[in-house]
Amino acid sequence: VTVQSLIVFYELCAAVAVCNHAMNMAGQELYADKIIKKFHFRPRLEVLWIPGGDMGFSRNFITPQLSRSTIIYILLFLWPHMAHGGEMNTEHLDISSHCLLGKFIPSEQIEFIEVDAAYGNKAKMYLHKQAYGAFVAMAEEARNAGIVLTILSATRTFRHQKEIWETKWNEWPFEEEHEKRALTILQYTSMPGASRHHWGTDIDINSLENGYFEKGEGLKAYSWLKIRARDFGFGQPYTAKGIDRPFGHEEEKWHWSYLPLSRKMLNRYLKKISHRDLNGFEGSSTAAKIDVIGKYVRGINKECYQQEAD
Ligand SMILES: [Zn+2]
Repeated sequence: VTVQSLIVFYELCAAVAVCNHAMNMAGQELYADKIIKKFHFRPRLEVLWIPGGDMGFSRNFITPQLSRSTIIYILLFLWPHMAHGGEMNTEHLDISSHCLLGKFIPSEQIEFIEVDAAYGNKAKMYLHKQAYGAFVAMAEEARNAGIVLTILSATRTFRHQKEIWETKWNEWPFEEEHEKRALTILQYTSMPGASRHHWGTDIDINSLENGYFEKGEGLKAYSWLKIRARDFGFGQPYTAKGIDRPFGHEEEKWHWSYLPLSRKMLNRYLKKISHRDLNGFEGSSTAAKIDVIGKYVRGINKECYQQEAD
């Protein structure tokens, strides 16, 4: 190994670091402007990442000049990806902290799609395309069995969840102790930033009353879902509480989740989000004490949770 090739190697490492940093900055700025377009080339950069190298390494080391290797690197790796326009690798999407917390606009996300009037009870509901495709297939199959599945709620943003949460929060008497108030609301409502509805993978179907699913048409639909939903990738996160599920929201027979995506979201959420990220709404200071992430985000039907190897 010549000195020359070592220098080139180091330049290349540094170039990767600089580009990655630039991409991150660009991504954040796009986010701020609500033009949400994520960089699918990031995974490729990570593949090239040199163990031990990080932003600290790049900063002072080479920023002064864009070296020849940097230019070669951009031509070789970035340009082909940029040339693809908006096509994205969904494997690496939606998992920025902002997305996990619902701080984005679904209609502006190219990987989201509006729920068609045939499948929802109102306009302007959005789902992740993969989840929506699976739901449509499931709804069509259900229709063949004489069952209508209608989406009542799909993706909810942080702002939307904050409205729901704070409406309930303010219904309680002013003097009521905060933690107790939060626990009462948490029976059926997630804290803003801690709702699975932020992910574009979860839906509420047909009715928001368990009673509806216990007789007549509702029972027929629920019995069908219990058997067939998994064939389409869907599972029920909030099953009855008991030994298997001691913590979390109460049973919700209407809430279904597209597991191939939501399992990934959950894993990412548990890695990236802490109680400090749950802020900006009334009662947020109770989150850590209650352990909202451990007990409510994590407190789901085991079938809907699968730990990642990494
Ligand atoms: Zn729900």
